[in-house]
Amino acid sequence: MADLALLARTLEDAGEPGFRLGQVWRWLASGADSYELMTDLPATLRDRLSAEVPLSVLAVEREALARDGTEKALFQTGDGRPIEAVLMRYHDGRRSLCLSSQSGCPLTCTFCATGAMRFGRNLTSSEILDQALHFRRKEALNHVVFMGMGEPLLNLDAVLASCERLPDIGVATSNTAISTVGWIPGIERLATEGPRVRLALSLHAAEESLRSELMPVNERYPLADVLDACREWSARRNLPVFVEYLMLAGVNDRYEQAVELAETLIPRELFKVNLIPYNPTDSAFGGSSRTAIAAFKEALEERGLRATIRLTRGRDIDAACGQLAARA
Ligand code: SF4
Repeated sequence: MADLALLARTLEDAGEPGFRLGQVWRWLASGADSYELMTDLPATLRDRLSAEVPLSVLAVEREALARDGTEKALFQTGDGRPIEAVLMRYHDGRRSLCLSSQSGCPLTCTFCATGAMRFGRNLTSSEILDQALHFRRKEALNHVVFMGMGEPLLNLDAVLASCERLPDIGVATSNTAISTVGWIPGIERLATEGPRVRLALSLHAAEESLRSELMPVNERYPLADVLDACREWSARRNLPVFVEYLMLAGVNDRYEQAVELAETLIPRELFKVNLIPYNPTDSAFGGSSRTAIAAFKEALEERGLRATIRLTRGRDIDAACGQLAARA
């Protein structure tokens, strides 16, 4: 997307009426890849915009297509920060886009490739939306998850501003999910502010000490308090909380750990667990076996929890969960 502030200033300088901004945005949101296509704008204005307002604030550095149709784009911001976004294509027609909210991430989860790279900065809402528009120019999109680089709740103003505009791009608010490691002030804000998006919690260990080892943020916001904030969010939004659980071999995949997780996620009907096969990164962890994942799922279900196993996408292009590290 063009820098909306620059676009607004340019339209004002050109003496254009107030409705022009919305007109240009609607074209961009429907996948237009040049001002020339915006045939309901005066030709002189189209020329001026082409000369003065770049269509995107991001430069595409590299694109990769996986065997399963997953596509990853590596972008660079105007000040040279790397970011990545991934489009997952499913057989049932779902087109799910994973967006980044920060370049790098200041939280240093030990299993995460993004956490191991240097933190750059928060992205602007134009930079977030431009990741989506890049893919919208290729095809229609219908789901968005904020699960790429960064902790979205550390950049909540820009993330919410982007969420407000996603329906224009074709992604309903009910198909938009924000994933957090448990940044409580952000969860509290999400309970009352912005569109009614879905909430996903990266939980990964029910035991506080193990969770702190895996995710240092747990020292600041312990899981018990995070879950209280999630319950409150769920009550206010009348939506279930998605729980993401990475399956790490010999670390968090034992039977007793499934039992503890089931006992922690009370009341059960509020939570839906998504077990995520771990993808190899440069970290010291290995992924759990299929058998271990299936047994873990069964242990949760026996205790009344809804659990699914995530399909792994894009492993061969480092586009799967926890693999986004902007390797050029
Ligand atoms: S898992 Fe998320 S919050 Fe943790 S380091 Fe990676 S990007 Fe940051």
